[in-house]
Amino acid sequence: METTNQANTLKGRFNVGYKNILVAVDTSEESDHIVKAAKALMLDDGASISIITVIQPLYGLYVDMYSALGDLSSIESQAVEYANSTLSELVSRHGISPDSAHVITGKPSIEIKTWAESKGVDLIVLGTHGQHGLGLMLGSTANSVLHGAPCDVLAVRVGKKT
Ligand code: AMP
Repeated sequence: METTNQANTLKGRFNVGYKNILVAVDTSEESDHIVKAAKALMLDDGASISIITVIQPLYGLYVDMYSALGDLSSIESQAVEYANSTLSELVSRHGISPDSAHVITGKPSIEIKTWAESKGVDLIVLGTHGQHGLGLMLGSTANSVLHGAPCDVLAVRVGKKT
């Protein structure tokens, strides 16, 4: 009851009532924390949630070494398989339908924004490691999503990256 009252206060005060929430996770152990934060923002009865993980094609990353590395497609398909099974476990732990979990390929920040735009998402939730110094200059997925996101973005502070 207390939680419902708090939720209604939050909803009234900030005029939030997100209906279509996208959660971007990289399948690390921090994902649980990010999903929990997103679920806490499902204040509207009809709110829906999608969880995505983006697998970046290796060819684009290691183009100079491509011929030396040989067939990268099998590594990529193993990465997709691993992400699918990790995501299934994640959604099941949080009582979210398996239909809400998606593994896609591409550049994470681009795919997250494209998904949000094409599916009419009104809130993107992701993690941030609060980079500073060189890390900040190099940018992070959170920074890149924030620039040009078609909707609100919640960056949940997660454990510092080493
Ligand atoms: P990072 O750029 O590694 O600091 O990641 C910040 C946050 O962006 C992570 O906590 C995730 O929420 C999200 N993220 C990073 N990489 C991916 C990915 N490949 N797929 C989906 N979300 C991601």
